[in-house]
Amino acid sequence: MEGIEIVFLWHAVASWTWDAQDETCGICRMAFDGCCPDCKLPGDDCPLIWGACNHAFHLHCILKWINSQTPQAHCPMCRREWQFKE
Ligand SMILES: [Zn+2]
Ligand SMILES: [Zn+2]
Ligand SMILES: [Zn+2]
Repeated sequence: MEGIEIVFLWHAVASWTWDAQDETCGICRMAFDGCCPDCKLPGDDCPLIWGACNHAFHLHCILKWINSQTPQAHCPMCRREWQFKE
């Protein structure tokens, strides 16, 4: 019985998580099904954003990162030149 319950809970949680490659943001290390440290509630107000390199981050995290990396930002994960995915 206990095993069935755990599987059910896992599915319930997985159904509303973001469809992301990695489960945590590479900048703030917070889970993608949560929000960045600057936000209180996960969801549309704290969206995920993908780069051309296919790494995903919280929008707020990557914006802060880009602003600290002027003039050219690089992906914190793979160090490729950062571009937002079209
Ligand atoms: Zn983040
Ligand atoms: Zn945020
Ligand atoms: Zn990358």
